[in-house]
Amino acid sequence: MSNPPSNTLPELNRLHVAIQEVQEEIDRGPRLLKARHNVTLGKQEDLESQKLKLKQLRLAADQKSLQLKTNEAKIVDLKGKLNQAASNREFDIFKGQIEADKVANSVLEDEILEALEKIDGVQVDIKKLEAEVVAAQADESKFSAEVDRKRGGLDEKLKALQAELLVVENDIPPEILPAYRRLVQAHGAGALAAVENATCTSCYVRLTSQNAVSILSGTIMFCRTCGRLLFAKPEEA
Ligand SMILES: [Zn+2]
Repeated sequence: MSNPPSNTLPELNRLHVAIQEVQEEIDRGPRLLKARHNVTLGKQEDLESQKLKLKQLRLAADQKSLQLKTNEAKIVDLKGKLNQAASNREFDIFKGQIEADKVANSVLEDEILEALEKIDGVQVDIKKLEAEVVAAQADESKFSAEVDRKRGGLDEKLKALQAELLVVENDIPPEILPAYRRLVQAHGAGALAAVENATCTSCYVRLTSQNAVSILSGTIMFCRTCGRLLFAKPEEA
């Protein structure tokens, strides 16, 4: 088996890792943007439900006010009848009805007051939520612009790395190319594993010393345990 230039495998590894990092950064943008969008949507839903609540409270308060007015008119009418009562019995009946309506109105007045207080509270919530929706939308569009701004540079970087990878892949001996492709397919950036202290850094299984020496001399070898394409970790510069 012909050996590739000594830096081929470390370079392949470096490029695969770099490509994965750039790809992850590209993918992260839309994901974070979606999370921000969901925050906005949540606030908008809260706002809509508070607006609906306000509408219902106002309707209920209006109905009670209308009933109060109707009862008040009824009392005025009953008072007229009371003054013209033809008998004591009639007088007592009108008087009793007036008392009953007054009690009902007093309850209605309390209920109307309570409803108006609730309306005030909901209006405060709505104002707060409206401000929060505006803030969430502003945050979202600011973040979106930031993602777009970075995206161009990341795409360029990815293209450059992929072009570089193609060049280095030309140095892979043809007989191991299919195995290399399968590893990249299966493990992406983890297709290759550095050997450190005679140990595979992917599965942490120790190599025989003979194999470790072979790796150091540039022999192409796959880990017997995890199948990764092994390379000697280059000396730190
Ligand atoms: Zn291994």
